Amino acid sequence: MTMIVAGPCAIESYEQIEELYKSVGGKIDYFRGGIHKYRSLANTYQGTYQALQWVRDLKAKYNVKYCGEIFSKDELMEYGKDFDMIQIGSRNMHNTNLLKLINSYCSWNNKPVLFKRHYAASIQEFVNHSSYLKDSEVYMCLRGIQGMHPEEQRFQPDMPDIARLRELTDSKIVYDASHSSCEKRFVAANALAALEYCPDGLMLEVHPTPAEALSDADQQLNILEFLNLVNKIK
Ligand code: PEP
Ligand code: MN
Repeated sequence: MTMIVAGPCAIESYEQIEELYKSVGGKIDYFRGGIHKYRSLANTYQGTYQALQWVRDLKAKYNVKYCGEIFSKDELMEYGKDFDMIQIGSRNMHNTNLLKLINSYCSWNNKPVLFKRHYAASIQEFVNHSSYLKDSEVYMCLRGIQGMHPEEQRFQPDMPDIARLRELTDSKIVYDASHSSCEKRFVAANALAALEYCPDGLMLEVHPTPAEALSDADQQLNILEFLNLVNKIK
């Protein structure tokens, strides 16, 4: 059975995530959604600290595990205990200090790590950096790579790398069909194509009203689109 990690790009309000927990919570293995977001522009939505309490409440109410991204030691100490899986984002793949900290924390506390490939890293470089997480249960996550024309398409799908990665690691492999697709019209086809390479899991972004999303509005599925895709996956 393919593991599914899904939720919005960023947590925006209690109502937003409660609607998602209610409608898709029963279909997924981990709920995702950034409490804080890495954004290249400082005046864009950065997430909100309040989201931590919303996640605590809704995780307990709907009994769905939560996968959240950690950026620093302070966050790890404060949020770690509420996270069931700890995500290391693409931009932190090379942050070996953070990898060492997360490896100690997750191996000690028995929490899996979702480790995302940097969008410009080779597969070998990705595998090499995963050695910093050697004591933990790691899910290596492919999430698209930067192509020749990022101004036309920010990231390009890297599904065949599931097969290449499989030859180089014993860790589980997750395919992020949302960040690798960039536009929602490609997400379902790319997710289904990725399944041909037998990943252990899929990551998908879903939002109650994608057009109004405060980050990654172009690629998030709405609830109906998401449920249709999950039916095909399962
Ligand atoms: C995410 O999964 O929330 C995210 C920002 O993805 P990435 O780190 O792969 O860009
Ligand atoms: Mn996103």
